[in-house]
Amino acid sequence: MSPRVVVTVLHRFRGAVVAGTLAGVLTVAGTVVPAGAASATLPDPRPGGESILSRTWAPALDPADPTVLVNKTHPVTPAGWAPDDLVRPDVPALGEHDRLRADAARALERLADAARDATGHELVLASGFRSADYQRQLYSRYVDAHGRRAADTFSARPGHSEHQTGLAADVAEAGTPYTGFGRTETGRWVAAQAWRYGFVVRYPRGQQAVTGYSPEPWHLRYVGTGLTVPMHLAGTATLEEAFGVDPAPGYTAPR
Ligand SMILES: [Zn+2]
Repeated sequence: MSPRVVVTVLHRFRGAVVAGTLAGVLTVAGTVVPAGAASATLPDPRPGGESILSRTWAPALDPADPTVLVNKTHPVTPAGWAPDDLVRPDVPALGEHDRLRADAARALERLADAARDATGHELVLASGFRSADYQRQLYSRYVDAHGRRAADTFSARPGHSEHQTGLAADVAEAGTPYTGFGRTETGRWVAAQAWRYGFVVRYPRGQQAVTGYSPEPWHLRYVGTGLTVPMHLAGTATLEEAFGVDPAPGYTAPR
C-alpha cells in the first residue's frame, strides 16, 4: 500500500483491550494474518509513542487503488472506469459476474479455503465485478420493482457501486441464497475472520446512517490487510470512519 497522509485521530481507540489483542495477533507484513500467528514481533508499547491505531487514512480517489472509497457521495471517477486485471478466482461462482481484480481474487481464494477448513461448507462467489452499464440495468430493474427510495437502500446507482472497482464480492454459502448469508455458519465465520484476509464486511448492521445501505453480510470489499488489521484492532466498523470522512446516507444530487 502506498504511503498515506495521516489526517485525523480515531475516536474509538480502546486502549487496554486493544493492547492485549495486539500482542496476540498482529503481523502486518504479509497479506494474510492467520489466527494465532505472531506474538514476538512487536515491541512493547511506549507511553506517548505513535500507535498504528491512532491514525486514519486518506481515502484514495483513484479507482485503481485498492483503498478507493466508493459510496453515495464518492462515485467511481471516471464514470465508466473498469479494471484491467480482472481474473476468475478459483472459487465456485453462481453467475456470469465471476471476476475480481487479481489481488482481491487471490485473497478470496484464501478466505474460501480457510472458511471451508473451519466450517466444512463451500463459500461461493455470487457477484464480483459489474460494469457501470450492467449496474444501470440492475438498478433500473430494482427501481421498477420496488421504487427508487427502497432501491437506494440495497442497490447502488450506476457509477456508485463498489462492484465496478472489481474489489467487491457478494458471497454465499453453497446451497443457500446469498441474502441469507448472515444466518449461515459460513456467514458468521466470515463476519469474524474476513479482516485477516484483507476484506471488510462493507455494510454492517447498525451503520446505515453512515454507509447508506441496509445490512449486507454477503458484500465483502477488499482493501488489503494494511487497512483491515488496524480497523479490526480499533473496532472501526466502516471505511467512512476509517478514512475520517462524512457519513454518506444519501446521494447529494439526483440522477
Ligand atoms: Zn454487493
